[in-house]
Amino acid sequence: MSIREHVNAVREKIAAAAIAAGRDPSEITLCAATKVQTDDTIREAIAAGITVCGENRVQELTAHLAANAYEGAQVHFIGHLQTNKVNKVVGKVALIHSVDSEHLLRAIDRQAEKLGLVQDVLLEVNVAGEESKGGCTPDEARALAQLAESLEHVRLRGLMAIPPISQHPGDNIPYFSRMKQLFVDIKEKMAHNQDDMDCLSMGMSGDYEDAIAQGATMVRVGTALFGPRPPMGKQ
Ligand SMILES: *Cc1c(COP(=O)(O)O)cnc(C)c1O
Repeated sequence: MSIREHVNAVREKIAAAAIAAGRDPSEITLCAATKVQTDDTIREAIAAGITVCGENRVQELTAHLAANAYEGAQVHFIGHLQTNKVNKVVGKVALIHSVDSEHLLRAIDRQAEKLGLVQDVLLEVNVAGEESKGGCTPDEARALAQLAESLEHVRLRGLMAIPPISQHPGDNIPYFSRMKQLFVDIKEKMAHNQDDMDCLSMGMSGDYEDAIAQGATMVRVGTALFGPRPPMGKQ
């Protein structure tokens, strides 16, 4: 199957999952997880209708930006972000999905101030409490949301989660449901900027339909669009 056929097939499944959940399919954005893909593959995906690309690694982001590979789409940063690399990401991506500490949030705010812009961000929550993964605890996310409201150069748009790789269909439904509750709770407690909170980024190739059933507004899909990736280190 071509990338176009994969994109269409995933879109159909997204729409069916949305309708089954009583939701409007237009509420859900498909973010193509483009790690390890070439400039040409990214261009092909955008020609096939992809409007958002999600990049994991600063190095790949920088190279694809230099090659203008994302032309016609937005790019988001979805991988772990080190504080010393914020200057390579802030202002270059429409949304950073992976803010998980006060240190990082403040560094993003400072860099955005330097550039005279406001950076849209999500808070990444380690919803399954996995030691090997980034992301903050739900309580830390509540505190970070309060802090984000007080910073002038970041705009909190919502939450992101990467639950465990599911072993069985439906495994991650409780995590997705917990994320939706946390999202609603944090949004309700915001003093001023509730309306900015419009993004719940969760669901990957193996479980995006379950994520949509539980309220995801953005799914990040790689394998189902581009095929299996060669094995690599920590992603
Ligand atoms: C790679 C990746 C995805 C997509 O994973 P697939 O299982 O290939 O769909 C989604 N989110 C993040 C943060 C990723 O690194």
